[in-house]
Amino acid sequence: MAGTVQAGAARAAGAVTAPLPLVLTHGQRNRWASVAGFAREHLAGGAADRDASAAFCWDGWRRCAESGLLGLPLPAGHGGGGESHLTTVVAFDALGYGCHDGGLLFSMAAHLWACSMTVARFGTAGQRQEYLPRMCDGSLIAAHAMTEPGSGSDAFAMATTAQPAGGGYLLNGEKAFVTNAGVAGVFITFAASKQRPGPYGLTCFLVDATAPGVATGPPVAKLGLRTSPMASVFFSDCLVPRSSVLGKPGMGMAIFNEAMHLERAFIMAGALGTMQRQVERGASALRSRRHPAGAAGAADEVAHRLARMASRLHTSRLLAYGHAAKMGTGRVAAHESALVKLKLSEAFVRNSEDARANDLALGHWPAAESERELRDALASRIYSGTNEIQRTLLAHGLGL
Ligand SMILES: Cc1cc2nc3c(=O)[nH]c(=O)nc-3n(C[C@H](O)[C@H](O)[C@H](O)COP(=O)(O)OP(=O)(O)OC[C@H]3O[C@@H](n4cnc5c(N)ncnc54)[C@H](O)[C@@H]3O)c2cc1C
Repeated sequence: MAGTVQAGAARAAGAVTAPLPLVLTHGQRNRWASVAGFAREHLAGGAADRDASAAFCWDGWRRCAESGLLGLPLPAGHGGGGESHLTTVVAFDALGYGCHDGGLLFSMAAHLWACSMTVARFGTAGQRQEYLPRMCDGSLIAAHAMTEPGSGSDAFAMATTAQPAGGGYLLNGEKAFVTNAGVAGVFITFAASKQRPGPYGLTCFLVDATAPGVATGPPVAKLGLRTSPMASVFFSDCLVPRSSVLGKPGMGMAIFNEAMHLERAFIMAGALGTMQRQVERGASALRSRRHPAGAAGAADEVAHRLARMASRLHTSRLLAYGHAAKMGTGRVAAHESALVKLKLSEAFVRNSEDARANDLALGHWPAAESERELRDALASRIYSGTNEIQRTLLAHGLGL
C-alpha cells in the first residue's frame, strides 16, 4: 500500500492507521482502525507461549466472537452482522495486523468461510436456525472435514461412505488434517454413495461431534499454525438422520466447490495485516539502528527487502479488496478466487522470509516472532488446495 512505511511512523507515535483511503469508505476505514486497535489491545500477547505449547486461544476466540467478528458477513437474522464481503476482508486484514496469533486467525477464517457461510448458503431454515446463531456467537466451533488419508488434491476420490439406513445414513470413514477438530462441536463433512459412485454421488452432512460413532484423533503436531487445532475425524457406523444432510443428497461436490471458492477468496485476508506489521516492524528497526561507517550497504539491502515487501503487500491488498468487492456482485469465476489465494499465499511466504532475513540482518530480537510468522505462512501454500492445484484451476480458467 502507498505510505506503508509512513504508517509505521504513525504507529510508532501511537496511532493505528487504516489502509487504502481511496478505495474504502469512511466506515470501512474506521472499521479497520477499530478492529486493529481491539486486536492490539487484546490479541497481541501470549502468541509465542501458545505456539510453544500448541495451545488454542479460547480467550481470544471468545473476545473475537463478542466483538462480532465471527459472524460479520452472516445474516443479521441469524446472529450475524450482515456486512459485505469487502467489509469483512477489511476487518480480518486489521485483525491480522493487531493479532500476533496466526493460528487463531486461521481457525476463525476456516470456521467462518468454509463452515458458517456454507450453512448460511445451503442449510434449511431449521439448520440455519439451529447452528448459525451459535456459530456467530462463538459457542459452537465448526470444522470442515473433507481431506482423507488417501485423497487430498484429488478430493472427490474419497473413501468415506454414506449408506442409507434407518431413515437416515450410516457414515463410515476417516477424515484427515481437519482444522478445529479437537475444539469443534460440529463437522461439515462429505461422503460417497455406494449406489452412485463418483463426484455426483457425494453428499454433504452436518454431524455433531458428540454423535455416537464420531471420534477425534490426537492433535496433529505441525510446523506452523500450531495454535490452530488439527486432528483426524473418524466415523464408525455413525447413524445420522436425513435432516443432517446439507443441501440435497448428491450435492456434495457443488457445496464443496462453493465453499472452496469462498475460502480461497478470503482465507488470506488476515495475512494482509500481518504483512503490514512485518513491513512496519522492519522499517522501524532500520530507522532506529545506528550503522557504523561501512555498514551502509547492509542497511540498503534491508531497505530494498522492505521495499519489495511493501510492494507485495500493496498489490496483494489491491487484489484482495478488489476481489472481495467483486465477490459481492456474485458474478465471479472460481479460478479468480484461486488466483487470489495463490498470489496472497506466495506474497505472504516471500514477505515472511524477508522479514526473517531482516530481523537477522539487523540483530533485531526477539526474532522468534518472524520465525513463527514464517512457519505459519508456509502452510498457506497447502491449505484450501495446494498452490499447484490453484495453478491447475487457473489453467482451466484459461481454457487449458
Ligand atoms: C494448515 C492446514 C490446514 C488444513 N485444514 C484442512 C481442513 O480443515 N479440512 C480438510 O479437509 N483438509 C485440510 N487440510 C488438508 C489440505 O486440504 C490438504 O493437505 C491439501 O488439499 C493437499 O492434499 P494432500 O495433503 O493429500 O497432498 P496430495 O494431494 O497428496 O499432494 C501432494 C503433492 O502433490 C501435488 N499434486 C497433487 N495432485 C497434483 C496435480 N494434479 N497436479 C499438480 N500437482 C499435484 C500437490 O500440490 C502436493 O505438492 C489442511 C492442510 C493444512 C496444511
